[in-house]
Amino acid sequence: MNSGKRKVVLIGTGMVGMSFAYALVNQGGICNELVLIDVNKKRAEGEAMDLNHGLAFGKSNMKIYAGEYSDCKDADIIVIAAGVAQKEGETRLDLLQRNAEVFRSIITPVVKSGFDGIFLVATNPVDIMTRVTYELSRFGASRVIGTGTSLDTARLRYLLGDYFMVDPKNIHAYVMGEHGDSEFAPLSQMMLATKRITEVLEDKCNGYCVEDMKKIEEQVRTAAYKIIEAKNATYYGIGMAITRIVKAILGDENSVLTVSAKLCGEYDSKNVFIGVPCIIGRNGVKEIIELSLTDEEMESFKNSVDVLEQSFEGVI
Ligand code: NAD
Repeated sequence: MNSGKRKVVLIGTGMVGMSFAYALVNQGGICNELVLIDVNKKRAEGEAMDLNHGLAFGKSNMKIYAGEYSDCKDADIIVIAAGVAQKEGETRLDLLQRNAEVFRSIITPVVKSGFDGIFLVATNPVDIMTRVTYELSRFGASRVIGTGTSLDTARLRYLLGDYFMVDPKNIHAYVMGEHGDSEFAPLSQMMLATKRITEVLEDKCNGYCVEDMKKIEEQVRTAAYKIIEAKNATYYGIGMAITRIVKAILGDENSVLTVSAKLCGEYDSKNVFIGVPCIIGRNGVKEIIELSLTDEEMESFKNSVDVLEQSFEGVI
């Protein structure tokens, strides 16, 4: 890893990629160099110009340019937000296979450049595409990360904060599993400051109830569908989630984030990439935190593992 300058290469300068780049520029101080790569080179060039013209108004002193795969050589992080959209009549597996082809055209030249940093994948289905990246790159598992359920976790904390009328920063709760329909939010792990939310719900006088927790979990699970119905795509939230993960890596923060990581026996599972709370630092996933899930929550987790195992079959 290049430790002198903090260099990030973004591959895929669509809505998600550029929302990330925009957040990175506006938050400032996270990295010094940002390279934009897209199969549509003209688009990457236009985006680089547009961002550069905003630098005079922001806090960042960054070098931003449209580049080539050879620019990945000394990068710290490769963020992948490239992908193709589902065609009419196309099955999920067809889409997955087309996206695997897109990833082949990306990972091969990145590895060939001599890149020795961390892959961070946002392309959907993110847990599968992260595993594809791992298989194609042959990098160590700690250096291949997906955005996983980081955005879903932020949505959950926001909704719980709103419900309990507490700053989301003082709500500790995670969405785990597939970034998709089988994800779940373990109630046994939700905390309001240091008080268990299950305890808060036991108090019959405050008006809070378990049924509302189920509704909030469902709201989180269906949030993307609602946003897509209203504005065709989601991008600001995920752009900020990617920024958060990049900041944790480059700042060697050892922050806990629910990224998609490869399980090696944790939660009684192996090989699958799935959203779990992880300690994230300069070398990627430092540790996967194993929470004490209830039997029912463990069943939900296993179900999500099965969904992801089945989805991965035949992709590579
Ligand atoms: P988009 O269509 O706006 O952008 C995709 C970009 O990828 C385009 O600029 C396209 O030219 C580029 N691209 C395609 N093939 C390429 C290749 N071979 N090499 C380099 N670039 C290539 O799409 P978007 O809205 O930005 O979404 C990008 C991905 O992010 C999608 O897979 C989407 O589902 C996913 N997403 C993930 C989350 C999450 O939580 N992980 C949330 C929202 C969206």
